[in-house]
Amino acid sequence: MIVAGDQQLLKQINRMALVRQLCGAPGMSRAGLSETVGLTKSTVSLLVRELMDEGWLTESALRATGALGRRATPLHLDGERLALLGADLGITGLRLVATNLLGVVLAERDEPYDDAADAAACVAQAARALTALAADAALAPRTLLGLGVGLHGAVDDTSGLLHVAPHLGWRNVDVAGLLRASLAGTALATLPLFIQNEAKVAALAELEFSGERGADPLIYVSIGYGVGAGIIVNGRLMTGLYGFAGEVGHTILQQGGPPCSCGRRGCADALIGLQALLDAVHGPRQPAPPEPLQQLFSAAERGDAATLAAVAAAGRHLGVLLNNLWVAFDPMSIALGGAAMRLGEHLVAPARQVLAEYAAATSLAAPAVRTPPFGANSIAIGGAAMARHYLMRPFDGHGVGSYAGT
Ligand SMILES: [Zn+2]
Repeated sequence: MIVAGDQQLLKQINRMALVRQLCGAPGMSRAGLSETVGLTKSTVSLLVRELMDEGWLTESALRATGALGRRATPLHLDGERLALLGADLGITGLRLVATNLLGVVLAERDEPYDDAADAAACVAQAARALTALAADAALAPRTLLGLGVGLHGAVDDTSGLLHVAPHLGWRNVDVAGLLRASLAGTALATLPLFIQNEAKVAALAELEFSGERGADPLIYVSIGYGVGAGIIVNGRLMTGLYGFAGEVGHTILQQGGPPCSCGRRGCADALIGLQALLDAVHGPRQPAPPEPLQQLFSAAERGDAATLAAVAAAGRHLGVLLNNLWVAFDPMSIALGGAAMRLGEHLVAPARQVLAEYAAATSLAAPAVRTPPFGANSIAIGGAAMARHYLMRPFDGHGVGSYAGT
């Protein structure tokens, strides 16, 4: 809610309108920005000067435009002076990145949790690792703008509370409060902090950093131990009433199907997720091998028939899920990510095939299905993307002071 007379907020909204415009159309001039955004040329010049002084924008060499030789100076986001932090609090450990304003990774860390069952200890470990990352020489002398955190469960992004992370066994964890407490007294104590579910965060990486312009509506389906999605419509992330929008892992694909961690049966999670695949290969009651996921990936790579059959079955179920998402949201494209992408075309090809069969049956063109470029860092980079996304949208109500303790 914008309060009348809040000149600082109004100014920030105008400044960030210029930055967002340059994200989508790098190289615009001040005059072009004035025309597009609807601010006077003198206001644009003033705000651009501020944004250049602060490290958001830079200008490249003059270029002549038109027969009269008028010259316009192209403006761009500055990749050299600011940095964003992103964190993926994963199932078995942490993955952290620092990026520049354009999403280029400057420094990264990953480490296993000391004790994955202790959520507070894991958040404290993340705080220590983030502080160490921020001190990395590769970041000097950049100014840090914000920190985004992706969590593997349902999140209330307005409070930074994790409702439940089923594959970690964490419930009702005040991640924002714990992180703020752990960062107190460090250089990151007052950094704007944003917290969201991992699939939604990875969707924001696609929106902000993939370079896929106009890929909106966009659906990012994340397949790890479970299945989730981030849905972006008109440049905004759908979060829903309670933050559960995109929990497509618990859409039912098979009535009376295998039991799911949520209590239902036949959920996408229980038919497609890596936990379901592990259960299918090893049996649900079998003791897990020491490094179950690595063994699953290795078995697929060496062509183990039972593993490939289970992966292909999961892929066909994924195709059904993609069809349902296509029909529900009519997306421009669907991106697939998450740890299961290590299975590559063994998983994705059957999904594409099923989607193509549904498309052929209706004589409609199915949306493009692609695998984004960020790989194992997609959630951590998504954290950085989320920080940029909300900092550039000060009217959204996210940002400095969003969580208690700021
Ligand atoms: Zn479920």
